Amino acid sequence: MFKIGATSLKHRTSIALLVDKPEFVKTIKRLREKWNLTKLFQPDQDSELMEHICGPEKNYDRWDNFCADIETVRRCFNRTPNFDKVIKYALAFTEIPEGAFRSTYFKAIDNSEYPDDIEYAIIVTPHSTPAEVTSELKEFKQIMQDQIEYRSDKGKLERAIEKYRYEPGPAYKDFDSLGTLDRTRLWYWEMYGEQIAGNANAKLKSYEEIDKELRLECPKGQDHETKAEQKKCPYCGLDDINSMQHLLPKYKKALESQ
Ligand SMILES: [Zn+2]
Repeated sequence: MFKIGATSLKHRTSIALLVDKPEFVKTIKRLREKWNLTKLFQPDQDSELMEHICGPEKNYDRWDNFCADIETVRRCFNRTPNFDKVIKYALAFTEIPEGAFRSTYFKAIDNSEYPDDIEYAIIVTPHSTPAEVTSELKEFKQIMQDQIEYRSDKGKLERAIEKYRYEPGPAYKDFDSLGTLDRTRLWYWEMYGEQIAGNANAKLKSYEEIDKELRLECPKGQDHETKAEQKKCPYCGLDDINSMQHLLPKYKKALESQ
């Protein structure tokens, strides 16, 4: 399972919906073999990775080819260029750190009881300038307009993807929190990890078995200081197996389709 450092739920979800795909896992395995990545790098070891790829003869063509491989993967999985870094980190590093995914963005916030009642926000950082916020707003309005057009015209849609203007990736709203996303991923890998690793005949565990196993793995020994903290725990915070029986197949389906 790839470690994802993104602290935004939207970002972590978008990344998870790529890197948990069995086809993606297989692709990464193949490319790690191709580029002889037997030992993964720490997120701050960019130059070490480059040295490794270029080799002692400092062949920079090899780096270009490496980047081209990443781009091919991204296109193959129908993602926009802001996923290139995510793929690079998944391929060669021990984790996909915070910031690998685009950090300036607008975001749909669903904080009402009604599922379709959505608000949009522009997320800023301490480095944001008024001009950037203005341009983000302008772009947001344009994108809202364009998306309506793109959806009705395949040629336009493809050109829009090329120019970063349309994000074809998953629109997935079933996770209400980081805890739910992290827990669903844990369950997913417990349930299908063997199959993803290539053992097609692996017997699936029951939900009850996985629940029991994960509870035992709780880093706090299932003894959390507050109820709220326990609820967030991906290992022992699940109230009701039924909710996972509902969520996990949906997550699996999303991975197969998006
Ligand atoms: Zn726990």
